[in-house]
Amino acid sequence: MPDTIFHKIMRREIPADIVFEDDHVIAFRDIAPQAPVHVLFVPKRDFATLNDVPASEPEIIGRLAVAAAAWAKAQGFDEDGYRVVMNCNGDGGQTVFQIHLHLLAGAPLGRFGT
Ligand code: 5GP
Repeated sequence: MPDTIFHKIMRREIPADIVFEDDHVIAFRDIAPQAPVHVLFVPKRDFATLNDVPASEPEIIGRLAVAAAAWAKAQGFDEDGYRVVMNCNGDGGQTVFQIHLHLLAGAPLGRFGT
């Protein structure tokens, strides 16, 4: 059974600033924010990387994106904008092997990669 730091957060074994939760997704603030607002949206099912999500279950990713967009809108970031990104494996910069969508907001972020 996979056991990452995010699983410990989901099990409430370590603290986190949880900002959203439903039956499928949990979201909490990143411990090392890369923007004024940096929240991680994590599925409650176990997938180490984006590579592991079956093509038959696109809703796993869809739910993360929809939850992030709804939360961003509720916080008033929808008009100014925000960034969502998912890192995959080493070249993608992934460090926690339970998939998660980063939501970055609260300041102009510039063009990606610049
Ligand atoms: P990745 O590099 O895998 O795409 O993103 C993992 C993220 O998890 C990083 O942005 C990192 O700061 C965050 N992170 C790592 N450990 C913890 C933790 O214990 N609590 C929280 N809230 N975030 C964490």
